[in-house]
Amino acid sequence: MIPVMKPLLGEEEAEAVAAAVRSGWVAQGPRVAEFEKAFAAHVGAAHAVATSNCTTALHLSLYVLGVGPGDEVVCPSFSFIATANAIRYCGATPVFADVEPGTGNVTAETVAAVLTPRTKAVLAVHQGGQPADIPAIEAVCGDVPVVEDAACAAGATLHGNPVGTGALLAAWSFHPRKLLTTGEGGMVTTDDAGWAARIRRLREQGMTVSAADRHAAGTKVVLEGYDETAFNYRMTDMQAAMGLVQLGRLPGIVAQRRAIAERYRELLAPLGVRAVGDPPHGTSNYQSFWVELPEGADQVAVLGALAESGISARRGIMAAHLEPAYAGHPHGPLPVTEHLTRRTVILPVHHEIGETEQRAVVDALAGALGLATSSPSH
Ligand SMILES: *Cc1c(COP(=O)(O)O)cnc(C)c1O
Repeated sequence: MIPVMKPLLGEEEAEAVAAAVRSGWVAQGPRVAEFEKAFAAHVGAAHAVATSNCTTALHLSLYVLGVGPGDEVVCPSFSFIATANAIRYCGATPVFADVEPGTGNVTAETVAAVLTPRTKAVLAVHQGGQPADIPAIEAVCGDVPVVEDAACAAGATLHGNPVGTGALLAAWSFHPRKLLTTGEGGMVTTDDAGWAARIRRLREQGMTVSAADRHAAGTKVVLEGYDETAFNYRMTDMQAAMGLVQLGRLPGIVAQRRAIAERYRELLAPLGVRAVGDPPHGTSNYQSFWVELPEGADQVAVLGALAESGISARRGIMAAHLEPAYAGHPHGPLPVTEHLTRRTVILPVHHEIGETEQRAVVDALAGALGLATSSPSH
């Protein structure tokens, strides 16, 4: 069976986690601080604050902007459900913007179409590692802040810089379905020192003195206070130890995934099947590589046929507004979102995928679609 995704984990990660365990400091501590510094440098942000996952990173990003009941936050429905849920956690209302067919991302046009006087923020997603054109979106948003759901986007670029460079607030995921994993884990990056400091406190029950600061104070007694009701959204030092090793692997992982995507496109070209590709404004890390099924093909039947050939593929990225959790939730027409979620299939991409596996995937897809095989050289 060829899995759709497989994290790249080695002895180095195992050793790093073991070292954290042996050190006796397993909760949030020096390794989390080190991972934050390294990740901020990688992204090109002034500050990074580690969290328990990206859902909590999104929650805190919206929270520091003061998003609350009565507010609207624009986001795509075409995303993992965590994007919209984080808005609901604040008591605010997700307002779904449609996406463009090429990348599956919201655009200046689709966002502008749903802005209202109640819009408190825009939550733009870099879907599947495809960069969304944030400066273009900001240009139509006026004073409304644009937060970036960069869960999938570590290693992607936007206008020549890493995604996250210059971001107001960007939230990242280290779930194994993404490129860089800590098992579970997340991060907020920002250039704003005030937001970073507040998020640091909010993730740790609102404590005015962190456990690390108290430890660093040595024999000096430092008493902590609690200024507001907050959360426990901490990362552990075991996770951060793994993240530090993974961060070193990231450029290699991205390069390999981009090469795999390129070869998929070559193999798929004779089939006339459209595949996701880089937008003009940046480069993807191909966290997800999807193809659009031709008219008349049945998505579930294609997934079934691929599974029978030993290939684990996935339906297109979900659309939150089609799920029971959002039944009755008002929204405007979302034609591209509905088209992409029903008409696309995500193909396997990971470090153990070589040309042989890719030909097998494309052959199986061609078979499922009743098309001639792509590889006469077979
Ligand atoms: C995976 C994902 C999330 C949630 O990340 P977790 O770390 O699992 O909380 C949020 N948004 C998008 C777009 C994602 O792909």
